[in-house]
Amino acid sequence: MELIDGTQISAPIIAELKAEVAAQKGRKPCIALVRVGDDPASVSYVRKKEKTAAEIGIESRIILPPVDIRQADLERIIDDLNADHTVDGILVQSPMQKQIDELLIFRRIAPGKDVDGLGTMNLGKVAQDDDTGFVSCTPAGIMALLARSGVDLKGKHVVVIGRSLLVGKPVALLALQKRAGANGTVTVCHSGTANLPAITRQADVLIAAIGRPEFVTADMVKPGAVIIDVGINRIADASRKTGYRLVGDVAFETVSPIAGKITPVPGGVGPMTVAMLMSNTVKAQRLSGAA
Ligand code: NAP
Repeated sequence: MELIDGTQISAPIIAELKAEVAAQKGRKPCIALVRVGDDPASVSYVRKKEKTAAEIGIESRIILPPVDIRQADLERIIDDLNADHTVDGILVQSPMQKQIDELLIFRRIAPGKDVDGLGTMNLGKVAQDDDTGFVSCTPAGIMALLARSGVDLKGKHVVVIGRSLLVGKPVALLALQKRAGANGTVTVCHSGTANLPAITRQADVLIAAIGRPEFVTADMVKPGAVIIDVGINRIADASRKTGYRLVGDVAFETVSPIAGKITPVPGGVGPMTVAMLMSNTVKAQRLSGAA
């Protein structure tokens, strides 16, 4: 078994971005990070994004609207950021509060600043094999992890568990694209899928994006398969100071001995997601001509 180490793989990407930003003469790239509410996972994700941005030399502007903000007021914040020429990228951390229609917020972000890649235009470009837009960060990170670990999807059966807008659907589209490294034969599973283990056992590459702790067990995996564990789940653990520990959607202890390659949680897909967000932000500034 080979560990696909996301922290290690993301390091040169971060270093390259740092060098690119350092070489710029004008204004540094700027990302607006909007977080509504105090969901502990969101707080830690936004903090990590802010920290990595600082390391690269990207300015981050943290916007914390009141937790009971109305849809129209959040849309006004997005409109202001869209119009602000000193802001290159906008990310609104998901999940948002119940009163907010997330999809309308994703669609509201100007396509040229949609560095999270969840708006209609950028998701559409993924379906069209058009790389002029922004690929959403987690799916882009998964593809980069596979490419940089020497996994070519051509001729492989790729099984994705999960069909969310954030991960499952876009990563399935990316794996399907007719381009080097992709060209996979893709099956997408979800909660309505019958005989899930029979399908996952056919996977040469299994991508788990379910949001259920240790859902994928050894009996669901073909020996030698490449396993990408997207899940980040907090489970209670009295032995930890925090009172919890993070586990993925894959039962790492029992699956890793039979896997060909596998990502850990934490330290797998997570660091790549952040690296891709930074890469998209630098790209946004470059494309806008502001770099
Ligand atoms: P989501 O929106 O809740 O989607 C979960 C998907 O899993 C849905 O499509 C759902 O099917 C499917 N599912 C749920 N139970 C199932 C079952 N018993 N059998 C088969 N499919 C089932 O979650 P998400 O946003 O994609 O996130 C998934 C996980 O990845 C979460 O743990 C999240 O925290 C993590 N995540 C990590 C990163 C990272 O950077 N590492 C980034 C984003 C998300 P239906 O569509 O039928 O409901």
